[in-house]
Amino acid sequence: MPLSDAFDLVVIGSGPGGYTAAVRAAQLGMRAAVVERDPEGCGGTCLLRGCVPTKTLLHTAELLDDMRNARAFGIVADSVDLNFTAVMERKSHIVRRLSRGVENHLFKKNGVALFKGTGRLDGPRKVIVDSVDVRQPLDADAVVIAAGSKPRDLPGVSIDGRRIMTSDHILELRELPQSLIVIGAGAVGIELASIFARFGSVVTVLEALPRILPSEDEEISAEAARALGKQMKIVTSARVESVAVKESGVDLVYSAGEDAPRTISAELALVAVGRAPVSDDLGIETTRARLDRGFIRVNATLETEEPGVYAIGDVVTLADRPPHPQFAHVASHEGVGVVERLTGRSVEPLNYDLVPSATYCSPEVASVGLSEAAARLRGRELRIGRFPFANLAKPRIIGREAGFVKIVADARYDEILGVHMIGPHATDLIAEACLALRLEATTEEIARTLHAHPTLPEALMQAAAAVQGSSIDA
Ligand code: NAD
Repeated sequence: MPLSDAFDLVVIGSGPGGYTAAVRAAQLGMRAAVVERDPEGCGGTCLLRGCVPTKTLLHTAELLDDMRNARAFGIVADSVDLNFTAVMERKSHIVRRLSRGVENHLFKKNGVALFKGTGRLDGPRKVIVDSVDVRQPLDADAVVIAAGSKPRDLPGVSIDGRRIMTSDHILELRELPQSLIVIGAGAVGIELASIFARFGSVVTVLEALPRILPSEDEEISAEAARALGKQMKIVTSARVESVAVKESGVDLVYSAGEDAPRTISAELALVAVGRAPVSDDLGIETTRARLDRGFIRVNATLETEEPGVYAIGDVVTLADRPPHPQFAHVASHEGVGVVERLTGRSVEPLNYDLVPSATYCSPEVASVGLSEAAARLRGRELRIGRFPFANLAKPRIIGREAGFVKIVADARYDEILGVHMIGPHATDLIAEACLALRLEATTEEIARTLHAHPTLPEALMQAAAAVQGSSIDA
């Protein structure tokens, strides 16, 4: 075995959690290394087979919508066609460029060492990197595990990557399917359903719970079901009984409520029922770190039970606050927090009540803070304000009027507890709400903050005014 290389920090995994942690560590003067085994390169799920490719395809779907609707804007564009091969090539090109950027730009520029291979802990202060031809030991003062997650299986359904797929497989399709069944109406299922429905596939979504996007506020789920129901068929409270693969597609039997089981057929089925941690081959057992249902258990500062061994991102469960949100923006903030604390900075633990969620379907859905139901469960007396995008000028100008903003505020102190949006550019608009919650702003402060006219963020200002009972346009 070669001699050990020594680092202040070794990070296992180069997703947004891992690469951000390593680059920040190097900026702060640490000798930092990243271990990555993915043959597709650096960037993890988000960059290679998650956020970046899906948002690229969603943007194409959005453009297609606009072009098909061109006549409403006085533009004649009668023969608008989708070249699926070109769409997928563009997606792959963007992914490859960004992945190479992590390696060639971020790591090289900041002096982060990259080891290509599988990284495993070998005791608390050592990581062994296994690649095809070398076994390289690395000594590390601290280790950050950022190994991420993978699509969860559905018991009784065998995913073959041909007819029954995960999000990994469907992002590599060569031909547009005529029909698609999506099992699971969380962010992954809804975003992919929204892409393929707008590309022209006949899409059916089956959700086990009584509503789609079940982690969102109930009114937002209802509006999303209404708006997306125009693009696809949605069945809630659905139980998948069986999926049979035929040469030409799949036959899926499901039951919903008291109704007799039904069979639907489609060219493909997508299983989008959540993501499982990647933790089974990390050498965790060589340390005092512990797993909880496969997730690595950490405290509020992301440290495992083994001092000096940290874990961040999708692979983590917080000992005192499950479930841990699986978002790229959470992983990268966690990574920065860990390394800044390691270099003696005082960084408060992430406030998981203030994590924004964003689903890039059409219309977009985004939220931060407590839903109305969650706020009531905490015993808060509430005031609610709602404002429809259709009442503003800008959504009419851009031809996207569906949706609304809902603010959940504390009745006594007027503090904003949660903001929930469905509508145009909601995933961008939520940033103002994130800042408002972080600064413990009141609805009065938002309502009295000047917002340029005509713009989409006026909807948040008007929803805040609606809480106050002073909205002009509500
Ligand atoms: P999820 O847990 O958010 O949603 C899975 C859905 O599948 C749930 O609604 C669940 O009720 C349903 N389900 C489970 N078993 C089922 C069954 N047998 N039949 C029908 N429905 C079933 O998981 P996801 O959508 O796969 O996303 C995984 C994680 O990644 C989430 O934390 C999500 O927030 C995150 N993510 C975020 C984004 C984004 O920010 N835009 C995009 C994709 C994923």
